[in-house]
Amino acid sequence: MPDYVFTPPPVVGLPVMGSAQLFPVRRVYCVGRNYAEHAKEMGFTGREDPFFFCKPADALIPVPAGQIGNMRYPSKTANLHYEMELVVALDKGGRDIPVDRANDCIFGYALGLDMTRRDLQNECKKQGRPWEIGKGFDESGPIGPIYPRSVTGTLSQGSISLDVNGTQRQVSDLSQMIWNIPESIAYLSGLFELAAGDLIFTGTPEGVGAVVKGDKMIGHIAGLGDFEVHVV
Ligand code: MN
Repeated sequence: MPDYVFTPPPVVGLPVMGSAQLFPVRRVYCVGRNYAEHAKEMGFTGREDPFFFCKPADALIPVPAGQIGNMRYPSKTANLHYEMELVVALDKGGRDIPVDRANDCIFGYALGLDMTRRDLQNECKKQGRPWEIGKGFDESGPIGPIYPRSVTGTLSQGSISLDVNGTQRQVSDLSQMIWNIPESIAYLSGLFELAAGDLIFTGTPEGVGAVVKGDKMIGHIAGLGDFEVHVV
């Protein structure tokens, strides 16, 4: 054991359904504008090449099955948006992974929220600045437990939705992704060497909007159950 000047920060571990083991997180990648109707609501055509940004692993809020995640309303924003997303968890990686082998890298899937300080993100876009303050802030990634692909099968379709205070705000189907999951993994692996422990938030469907303190979000993806996150 090396002699560090202080105790290293803990590895972020996500619960795995049906297992006592945790999934150790390395990096968190996110796909931007990956559903055409969401791209349009953000002012784009929905036919651009995929692009990516990252969140720090310690920005995740792991929400174990059957529990409620609490996200504190973040600082410096008056426009906190939800983005309900399917998260893919890799247990293998590599560079330049071919599309037809990309699903082999997937250990499992989870429900996730790519929470966004939209006002800060819009300002970053306007100024041509990086997105971290809009996307990578503390507690910006509530995430449910990992459902192993060995149990769920390989996901390529099925409903994805988000309710806020009992009203459905987002609903679509995983088949509506512009870049499907193997295509996103293949493309991303040309930009970064992927590795076991990497997560990919695969983009949000249309219907994004703001939440405030006291709001209750319930996300659902077919085959992965529900997860509930409160803004506190
Ligand atoms: Mn997103």
